[in-house]
Amino acid sequence: MFKKILIANRGEVALRIIRACHQLNIATVAVYAQVEQTSLFVQQADEAYCIGPNTAQSSYLNREAILMAALLSGADAVHPGYGFLAEDALFAKMCAECGLTFIGPQPATIALLADKAAAKTYAHKQGVPVIPGGSALKDEAALRQTAAYLGYPVMLKASFGGGGKGMRVLSSEHELRHQYHLIQEEARQAFLNDAVYLEKYLTSARHIEVQVLQDQAGHLQLLGDRECSLQRNHQKVVEESPAAILTTAERAKLYQLARQLMSGLDYVGLGTLEFLFAEHQFYFLEMNTRLQVEHAVTEMTTGMDLVVTQIEVAAGQLIKSGTKTFKGHAIEVRLNAQAEGGLLATGKLETFRLFTGARVDTGYQEGDQILPYYDALVAKILVKQPTRKKAIEKLQRCLQHVQIKGIGTNLATLTQIMALPNYQANLVDIHFLAHLAGDAQ
Ligand code: ADP
Repeated sequence: MFKKILIANRGEVALRIIRACHQLNIATVAVYAQVEQTSLFVQQADEAYCIGPNTAQSSYLNREAILMAALLSGADAVHPGYGFLAEDALFAKMCAECGLTFIGPQPATIALLADKAAAKTYAHKQGVPVIPGGSALKDEAALRQTAAYLGYPVMLKASFGGGGKGMRVLSSEHELRHQYHLIQEEARQAFLNDAVYLEKYLTSARHIEVQVLQDQAGHLQLLGDRECSLQRNHQKVVEESPAAILTTAERAKLYQLARQLMSGLDYVGLGTLEFLFAEHQFYFLEMNTRLQVEHAVTEMTTGMDLVVTQIEVAAGQLIKSGTKTFKGHAIEVRLNAQAEGGLLATGKLETFRLFTGARVDTGYQEGDQILPYYDALVAKILVKQPTRKKAIEKLQRCLQHVQIKGIGTNLATLTQIMALPNYQANLVDIHFLAHLAGDAQ
């Protein structure tokens, strides 16, 4: 087992990893941007190193500085959390070259799956349905031809996009001509690669995913499913486990597709296979080769500690193949710092009290600043109950007790969602929140 793990991340997930390390008796090293020196995760780590100024680019994405801290501290492994360098094949490779275990799959596997167009081609080869659309296309003429073949509306996506960024819905050839270069430029800047591909835009679908874990000997565990259809700007806001809409036969089909996808991969660690589910069909969307924000709903229904298990598997521990049984229904809501129009709100958390009786995962405490440099997540609030109906009722009670002042949040929207008859009846799709907010699409 590892003796010391460096956490290449911040906030909520850094604290989550510290908790798992405590349980395993592993020392922790935090790295932080200047402005986060007094943050909870820095305080709670055994050691901490400043890795640069405040922007993500110069701190949490600064591979060399992070590796320097890892080597200086004598860490033997690096946990990337989610976001930042979690799916960066180069960082995983650099860790290996420095003699550090990167807690995640091999660099080549990360590289294959980080390219969404290539991942779709792989899925198709494995006999798994994908959303109709082409592989990465080089010029506008080819895109126009593919779009005409697919029929508008289509989605133009950056092959290396992530976090809901780098995708645009196009409803006509005119829009395609107009948006193509913009998206390409956006992708070049944000993801350092301007490859794009087209997909049929699904006007009604659900986002359903499977949590998987595989050890070094190829033993595969399926750890249940989640529904994450409630999204704003293609980012998840409410996540549930299990996906209550699925019939037994549909779930069996989903798990069979998950096995087909995993069977051709040389994969070690935790991962999530994401699908869109439309007209009772699953379409592979992408695989995330890391811990997900919403892993905790799976923890609540399976009783497992996914981060502890992830670390154990990275250290070479073997698991038994199989499908984990789950019990009850868990819901997570993401309390985000949010201003008008869904933009990030910044400022001081004057009041921040979550005496809610729920599981709360947060990186903040009262008096902290929400900074403009990072993401909007303030806290994840989670409940588990025997049924979905009871879980919603409990979450409604918990949300009533949240006291948060000083910054704008989406608390009112979360409360509103829980009270909506269509949400309660599970009549949702990936466009549900956009309609609720009156967004353009
Ligand atoms: P990211 O890697 O940025 O999370 P994904 O490809 O996983 O991007 O897609 C994020 C979300 O965007 C999906 O959950 C879904 O709601 C929406 N989306 C993606 N592709 C399509 C599509 N072809 N049609 C409709 N919605 C889509």
